[in-house]
Amino acid sequence: MMSSLAQQQTSVAGRKPRLTKNDRLVLTALESAEAPLKAYDLLERLKVQGIGAPMTVYRALDRLQKQGLVHKLDGLGAFMVCSHGHPHEVETFIICRDCEKVEEIKDGAQRLHDVAHHASDNFDFKADLIRVEIRGTCKDCAA
Ligand SMILES: [Zn+2]
Ligand SMILES: [Zn+2]
Repeated sequence: MMSSLAQQQTSVAGRKPRLTKNDRLVLTALESAEAPLKAYDLLERLKVQGIGAPMTVYRALDRLQKQGLVHKLDGLGAFMVCSHGHPHEVETFIICRDCEKVEEIKDGAQRLHDVAHHASDNFDFKADLIRVEIRGTCKDCAA
């Protein structure tokens, strides 16, 4: 939970005026988590705040994803706050296989965009989401 007003104002949850109360609770829980959270873990953390129904969490996650504030990591089945703070078509993550630490990266996004669109054009297919989960070992785990 956020402890000071200053923290609240700099968080994504504090900057977005159009979010519902539940959206804010979910976003704040994800922001304060040390790693991506599964919906079930989110629900556990939000119980003390009065959220008891899984659907409440899923709906909030849906809205937050549509606004580009939260990403789902398919491989982990978990959610994390977007580090860009705005919607973007190419989502690139590096994920440590050992500690499951996840980092969202921006490098190479334009090239991935070009590759995906070039490939899908050949199939008469309109790409709108390019999500790449790069697996490996982080510096801490490699040491
Ligand atoms: Zn992002
Ligand atoms: Zn690691």
